[in-house]
Amino acid sequence: MINLTINGKAVQAEEGSTILEAARKVNIDIPTLCFLKGINEVGDCRMCVVEVEGRRGFATACIQKVEEGMVVKTSTPAVIEARRIVLDLILSNHDRECLTCTRNGNCELQKLAQEFYVDEIEYQGSRNEYEIDDKSPAIVRNFNKCVLCRRCVATCKKVQGIGAIDCIERGFASQVSTYKNKSLNDVNCTFCGQCIEACPVGALKEKDSTQEVWKALRDEDKYVVAQTAPAVRAALGEEFGMEIGTNVTGKMVSGLKELGFDKVFDTNTGADFTIVEEGTEFLDRFQNGGTLPMITSCSPGWVRYMELNYPELIPHLSTCKSPHQMFGAVIKSYYAEKMGIDPSKIFVVSVMPCIAKKFERTRDDMQGAGYDDVDAVITTRELARMIKQAHIDFLNLEDSEFDAPMGEATGAAAIFGTTGGVMEAALRTVQEKVTGNAFEKLEYEAVRGEQGIKRAEVDMNGKKVKVVVASGLKNAQTIMEEIKSGKADYQFVEIMACPGGCVMGGGQPIRSSKERATIDIRSKRANCLYSIDEKSTIRKSHENPVLKKIYEEYLGEPGGHKAHELLHTSYVERQKYLLDD
Ligand code: SF4
Ligand code: SF4
Ligand code: SF4
Repeated sequence: MINLTINGKAVQAEEGSTILEAARKVNIDIPTLCFLKGINEVGDCRMCVVEVEGRRGFATACIQKVEEGMVVKTSTPAVIEARRIVLDLILSNHDRECLTCTRNGNCELQKLAQEFYVDEIEYQGSRNEYEIDDKSPAIVRNFNKCVLCRRCVATCKKVQGIGAIDCIERGFASQVSTYKNKSLNDVNCTFCGQCIEACPVGALKEKDSTQEVWKALRDEDKYVVAQTAPAVRAALGEEFGMEIGTNVTGKMVSGLKELGFDKVFDTNTGADFTIVEEGTEFLDRFQNGGTLPMITSCSPGWVRYMELNYPELIPHLSTCKSPHQMFGAVIKSYYAEKMGIDPSKIFVVSVMPCIAKKFERTRDDMQGAGYDDVDAVITTRELARMIKQAHIDFLNLEDSEFDAPMGEATGAAAIFGTTGGVMEAALRTVQEKVTGNAFEKLEYEAVRGEQGIKRAEVDMNGKKVKVVVASGLKNAQTIMEEIKSGKADYQFVEIMACPGGCVMGGGQPIRSSKERATIDIRSKRANCLYSIDEKSTIRKSHENPVLKKIYEEYLGEPGGHKAHELLHTSYVERQKYLLDD
C-alpha cells in the first residue's frame, strides 16, 4: 500500500492506483469527462487536474499514479480556475442546445457547466459544423455536440473489438469519423449502441421511434400491442430515480396501459418460444450430425457482426429469430386469428434494452405471417420518455399484470436478459429432453457471473456437451477464431453483443462515468432477473402452458413446418457491400 495525503486526509491506496481512485476511496470527488474506467484512461480533457506538492503545473488525476508521501490538493482556487478554463474552451465549440437535446438532465458536460457556474462563454471563435448522420435505422450521430473525449472510440475498439469509428485529423479539425467518413449505416458498425452508453453528452443517440408509436396510438383503426423484453423491467425504474436493479414489472405494465396500448404482452413468452425452438434445433444437430457448434442468434448486434466478419460460419448460427420477432409473428398469426383481428391492423411495439433491434426489425425474412413481425422498436429510455411526456406518475403506479392469453412466461425466459441466461434456459430444457430426468437444481452456476467468456460441461446421458458463453463482441471474436481454426471442442455457444448481456444493452438507462466506475450495475440488474426466475412457479420454457396450447392448437411440432415459417429466419453475407465504395 502507498501512503499519501489528499486534501489533508491521510490515505492508503494500492500501488499502481491513480490519484482519482485513491481520492474516491475516501469520498473526495474529482470531476472527470473523458475518463471511462478500464476503457478510456488517457487524461485528454484535463478536467481532473489536481495540484501535487513540489511539482510544477498540474497533474492529471485519472492517469497519475499515487506515490509514497505524495501530497495532493484537489480543489484549490488554481485547480478550480484551470478546470473552468478547460470547460469554457470545450463549450466554446459546442452546440449548446440543451433544451432540445436528448441528454438534457443526464449529460456530464451540462452537469459540469452547472457545477462550475459557467454563465458566459469567455472564449468566442470559430465553431465546427458537421452534418448529422441519421441514415442508419438505429443510431444518430451529431458531432456538433461531440467533446472529443474518445470514450466511444475506445469502447468500440477495446470492448467490442470493432473499430468502426476513430479519431481523424488534428487540432481544430479533429473529429471522430468512420471509414471514408461514411454513415455508420455503411461501415462495419453492428448497432450495438455501446458507444451511446459511453458518450457523456448528446453526440450519440438512438434513432427515436416514439413518434411512430404515438401516431399508432392515436390511430383508432390500429390495434396496438406492446411487448417488453426481460431486461427492461430491471432498469426502467432508474429513469425515475429508483435504485439500480429494482424490478418494476408491474409499474411498467401499468404505465404501458395508461399510454393507451390495447394489449401489453411479455416478450418473455417469446423467449420461451426461442428456447423450445432453439433446443429442438440443437438436439437435431447434436443427434443427427448437423453443423456444430450451434450458436445462438437472439442478439441482433451479434448476428450483424457475424454476417459482416464471419460469413463462412453462418451455418453455425441457429436459424431461430430473436424472442420479440418470434412473438410478433405469433401475435400477427395465432393471436389475430383467435381474436378475429385483421393482422394488417395490428401494430406491434417492442420495448427493448437494445439499439440493434431497431435494425433487426427491418431485416428481410422478418415477416413470418406475411406482415412485419414488429412495427416499431423503442428502447427502455424511449419508453421512459413516453411515460414522462404523458405525465404518468410512474413511482406511484399500482402494479398490473400482463394481458392474457399471451402474457404468461417462465423463469427461464426472465434470465434471457443477462449473459449466460439463454444458455441456462436452453440447458434446462435440452438436458431434460435428452436424459428424461426432471432436475431439481436448475441453476447452472458455471454460466453465470460477469466473466466475458464462460466455459462449462454438461452431462447428457453419459455424453458430455461442452458449452461456451461469451458477451461483448471482442470476446465473441475469440470464440469465432477458435471455431474458424478448428480448435473449438464445444457444441453449443451463446453470444450476446453487449458486455454483460441485454441488461447492459445500448438502449438501457445511461449511467455516468463515475457510476460505471463505482457501482456494479451489471450485477444489480442481472440479480433482479435471477430473483424473478427464483420466484417463478414455472422455470422451464417447455413447461409454459401458453406455449403448449399454441403448439397444440396452431404451430404443430416444435421445429415443424409452421414453426419454421413463423419463428425462423435466414442470414446474409454483408462483407461485400462494405467493400463497395
Ligand atoms: S450535450 Fe449536454 S451540454 Fe451539450 S446540448 Fe446536450 S445536454 Fe447540453
Ligand atoms: S454501435 Fe457498436 S459497433 Fe457501432 S460504432 Fe458504436 S460501439 Fe462501435
Ligand atoms: S461522440 Fe461522444 S463519446 Fe465519442 S468522442 Fe464525441 S463526446 Fe466523446
